[in-house]
Amino acid sequence: EGDASLIAFDNSYARLPERFFRPVQPRPVAAPRLIRFNAPLADELGLDLDALDDDALARLFSGNALPEGALPVAMAYAGHQFGNFVPQLGDGRAVLLGEVLDRDGRRRDIQLKGAGETPFSRQGDGRAALGPVLREYVVSEAMHALGVPTTRALAAVLTGEPVYRETVLPGAILTRVAASHVRIGTFQYFAVRGDIDGLRALASHVIARHYPELAEFQDPYPALFRAVAARQAALVARWMSIGFIHGVMNTDNMTVSGETIDFGPCAFLDEYDPRKVFSSIDQRGRYAYSNQPGIAQWNLARFAETLLPLMGGREDENVEAANEALAEFGRIFQVRWLEAFRAKLGLDGDEPEDLPLVNDFLALMHRGEADFTLTFRALAKLAGGGPDAPLLANFSDAEGAADWLSRWRERMSADPRLPVERQAAMEAVNPAVIPRNHRIEEVIAAGMAGDFAPFERMLEATARPYEERPEFSAFMEPPKPEERVARTFC
Ligand code: AMP
Ligand code: MG
Ligand code: MG
Repeated sequence: EGDASLIAFDNSYARLPERFFRPVQPRPVAAPRLIRFNAPLADELGLDLDALDDDALARLFSGNALPEGALPVAMAYAGHQFGNFVPQLGDGRAVLLGEVLDRDGRRRDIQLKGAGETPFSRQGDGRAALGPVLREYVVSEAMHALGVPTTRALAAVLTGEPVYRETVLPGAILTRVAASHVRIGTFQYFAVRGDIDGLRALASHVIARHYPELAEFQDPYPALFRAVAARQAALVARWMSIGFIHGVMNTDNMTVSGETIDFGPCAFLDEYDPRKVFSSIDQRGRYAYSNQPGIAQWNLARFAETLLPLMGGREDENVEAANEALAEFGRIFQVRWLEAFRAKLGLDGDEPEDLPLVNDFLALMHRGEADFTLTFRALAKLAGGGPDAPLLANFSDAEGAADWLSRWRERMSADPRLPVERQAAMEAVNPAVIPRNHRIEEVIAAGMAGDFAPFERMLEATARPYEERPEFSAFMEPPKPEERVARTFC
């Protein structure tokens, strides 16, 4: 193997100064076996893997067979984990094989996650267990189908080796595709070392790759910050609008590209509760659903600090500009959030009563422990001319709900669209199918027993999340009491 034409790598990150990464070979595994290969994504990336059978794909995506042109590296980064700064994290179990230019000319990273020890492994074994690999595959692909910027899953393989966690688990490797793997923590790595040249080189790399419109700026760093903040504002607003809880928003898990990354203890809301936390490692609720915008802003403040030494102006001016840009993040987030929830409620245009209308709807849902996904879907049906009862059944406060509904109807009365058009518009932004936590647990349990049929089926169900397909009705239902997932683990 090592076929020349398989993957046309062009590894711009590996051309950065040596201190940006450590060259590292994926550690071969005992018995690679393909779980799944994402052929449409491979096609999008322009990979020509049609001639490979499952065994060859398993060798490729386990790191056992290195494709020609790969320049495997572990990336250096730092990060704040739960608010505590760690000056050196880095890819402890991920190996960047290289980059390709996809069919649209966009540069994409291809990375093996779980490929063995690297110089950044610290106490870790460099490996990944099957469960988290299946979760990341399902959730990242579901996020993509939902229209949320995210890293993608190109392949999952079993390693044929055990990994030792609290118990012995099957080992697996996920092939992750990202616009890039540069994180806020990557900037922090150079900032904490006082490595101004490194910071400048990193910023240039990021601008060339993600923000080429800034390339000609004389002092591009304030604009770079604002551009990253705007993408993160849009991203977190999208998360909020689908009930997504990332679960571990450390600064090393926040990209500068604006893609969602690192699906560890992530989860989706079933019943709406803004304080909801699923992650087993988030004891204080730092990364609760409603904390996410504030945490994004906190992380962006850490990002701004890394850029200050690069900025042209006087220090106090730079700090003032950074603070203003952080405040701007809050305003942009609020705009994006309201846009998203206005669309969810079917509100066309922009009226002063929209914000209370959204907030009061959420409050009713909270009080009624209403299912976040199904309640919006029920409202869409009502907007299409359906009866009130299916929506009202979600609420415990009948009087409040009736009052809200009459305000909503009043607001909708000026809307010239036909009911059927309103419903279609609302259903296009309110998913019927999300990757519900209890279904993911089922997929993982079956996979651990060697049965990947539920995994395949869940991928099918979540691939067209805005459609109600009767054959996938089981994926629309909230968990029964005995199916409820209290905690997620990474
Ligand atoms: P995460 O919580 O997934 O963002 O990972 C935080 C840090 O721990 C990163 O530097 C990872 O590379 C590292 N890490 C996580 N799991 C392992 C592992 N099994 N072996 C080595 N490093 C790991
Ligand atoms: Mg991470
Ligand atoms: Mg992780």
